[in-house]
Amino acid sequence: MKNSAANRVSDLRDLAPAYIRSIAPYQPGKPIAELARELGIHPDKIIKLASNENPLGVSPLAMRAIEAAIADLARYPDGNGFELKQALCKRYGVDMAQIVLGNGSNDVLNSAARAFLAPSLEAVYSQHAFAIYALEIQYTGATGVEAPAREYAHDLKAMLAAITPRTRMVFLANPNNPTGTLITAADLHAFLRQVPSNVIVVLDEAYNEYIPEALRSDSLAWLAEFPNLIVTRTFSKAYGLAGLRVGYAFAHPDVADLMNRVRQPFNVNSISLAAAAAGLEDHEFVRRSFELNQAGMRQMTAGLTKLGVDYIPSAGNFVSIKVTDAAGVFQRLLQRGVIVRPIAAYQMPDFLRVSIGLEAENARFLDALKQSLAA
Ligand SMILES: *Cc1c(COP(=O)(O)O)cnc(C)c1O
Repeated sequence: MKNSAANRVSDLRDLAPAYIRSIAPYQPGKPIAELARELGIHPDKIIKLASNENPLGVSPLAMRAIEAAIADLARYPDGNGFELKQALCKRYGVDMAQIVLGNGSNDVLNSAARAFLAPSLEAVYSQHAFAIYALEIQYTGATGVEAPAREYAHDLKAMLAAITPRTRMVFLANPNNPTGTLITAADLHAFLRQVPSNVIVVLDEAYNEYIPEALRSDSLAWLAEFPNLIVTRTFSKAYGLAGLRVGYAFAHPDVADLMNRVRQPFNVNSISLAAAAAGLEDHEFVRRSFELNQAGMRQMTAGLTKLGVDYIPSAGNFVSIKVTDAAGVFQRLLQRGVIVRPIAAYQMPDFLRVSIGLEAENARFLDALKQSLAA
């Protein structure tokens, strides 16, 4: 059947709702292969400190599980992720019904947003917060409400003040990316007590394993006290599995049930499920990742201080630095084969975010930075 002239569209984009048309695409870190092509040099000559990836690579236990899982690729994965969920239950003392698995924790954030948000509702997040929150809210047609930050950190008072009768969800990152700022357990607990019980609080703990134990929040213990709390974590950072995409959420069973209804049935593939379950048991790898990051952070911040470069103290595996002409410094670092992350899109045009790498990578970054700083 032919379209009549009357219903022919002049611009296909007009078929999408306005809230979809206004989405700005997420800007990922520049891939190594892309810069290698641009500079005409071998990828081995390039260091990437742009996406907070684990410089130690993949956990060896996860790697063995990956190799074993390849044999079964003709089969669909376990849509309920039984083995990984069991491993998470054993490790964290939660029930199976409290877990939602995702294709990265971004996917879990997506399930949370789609389960609870709709065009007439609002969701609150902080200025300088992880960019994915605003996107996930926008996909649903809900209205994102940005609360002003304070010294680059989440201002919990301002976030509470931004909650209205239309607010259905609040996103918090602890520590936040790209600022690295950490909310204390006491402040976070006080915040949760003040948030209305009909507002879902998503607490994103992607960098939890990098926080020294004494500074961590006992967020899983809070799940019983706050049924409106969702805690999200990931295998992308300390477990070194960013490329496989596995994340998870812990929540009240009723909340988890809704999130599980809106996620895609086979959202985590079989290799990822096997790698994550094995990686979870690799305490040695996570300990090494933590210690390397601690030492690397000391090396990085000492080097920055020596160069007279300001930075925001960070609880993550990255640090955001303040430089004159950040866009120019970024380009000059690229010319020296060093990829970092410009964060102008986070309302931080004078900053670059640098992931903590291996000792030699940090040293090379500091050297390249010295030569790239604007006069
Ligand atoms: C890296 C990161 C994540 C992890 O995303 P995945 O989808 O699990 O790779 C989540 N939240 C924040 C704040 C991050 O920086």
